[in-house]
Amino acid sequence: MAVDEKQLTEDILRLAATDVRRCMQCGRCSANCEAASKMDLLPHRVVWDLNSGYASELLEADAPWQCLSCMACEERCPRGVSPARIMEALRLLQIRQQGNNKLSAESVEHYPSDMPQQLLVAAFRKYNK
Ligand code: SF4
Ligand code: SF4
Repeated sequence: MAVDEKQLTEDILRLAATDVRRCMQCGRCSANCEAASKMDLLPHRVVWDLNSGYASELLEADAPWQCLSCMACEERCPRGVSPARIMEALRLLQIRQQGNNKLSAESVEHYPSDMPQQLLVAAFRKYNK
């Protein structure tokens, strides 16, 4: 079944609660992202995808799982956009897409061994209910 890009974009933006239309693609978010070298999609590209109707690409991306939730992208954005919140929304939607809405201790073995512990702890707090 074809993905409804418009609905998916709305779902992501509702969860992220950030106005991607304000983005001017300056790239400052990506330039200040400590995890950028590990990402398959850089933060500014994630915002671009949402503005361009390519939301389904984001559900396949590994970048949200490399994100450290450090919020540097949000702090440095001159337009008040938060790629960090989009990354968080994408993590949640990817989990839901797998038929899950929570993380179990057993699922940890499926994630990269170099995943930041802070991310795992934060994810457990949020999705282990
Ligand atoms: S820093 Fe802000 S305005 Fe610049 S590309 Fe990133 S999200 Fe867009
Ligand atoms: S919150 Fe994530 S995307 Fe934003 S700068 Fe930090 S690691 Fe990069």
